[in-house]
Amino acid sequence: MTEREFQTNMKAADTFRRLAPEQYDGSSDFWMGYMRGLRRLYHGDAFGIEDEHILWMASADQPDDTHRFRGMGYRAGFAGQSIQRAMQTFSGPHTYTCTRCDHEWRPRNDQPPKHCPSCKSPYWDKPRTKT
Ligand SMILES: [Zn+2]
Repeated sequence: MTEREFQTNMKAADTFRRLAPEQYDGSSDFWMGYMRGLRRLYHGDAFGIEDEHILWMASADQPDDTHRFRGMGYRAGFAGQSIQRAMQTFSGPHTYTCTRCDHEWRPRNDQPPKHCPSCKSPYWDKPRTKT
């Protein structure tokens, strides 16, 4: 990620954070986490200590919304996701990948698909086990 990309993503995330709707939808926490993850990625160890980093990464697995959204955002930022990609991360998984045939597709709704549309496997989301 270049300095310019970093600045662009940070600026956009900050705008989204400030524009978060009054009714809580997690976006304020998500973008706050995203900015933090980005900074960590860009500045590396110079930004924040390792323990903190581990806590933020684990935060996405917490049951409460605040931690969950912050952790999701942090992971997205730390993964170097662009602002467009992070928006998709926030609004839900938009593409699925079949573990059997590597087919990628976009679902029509938010329901988890029952079968892979390509190979029809109902186990498309289960890791392949060795036989
Ligand atoms: Zn498949």
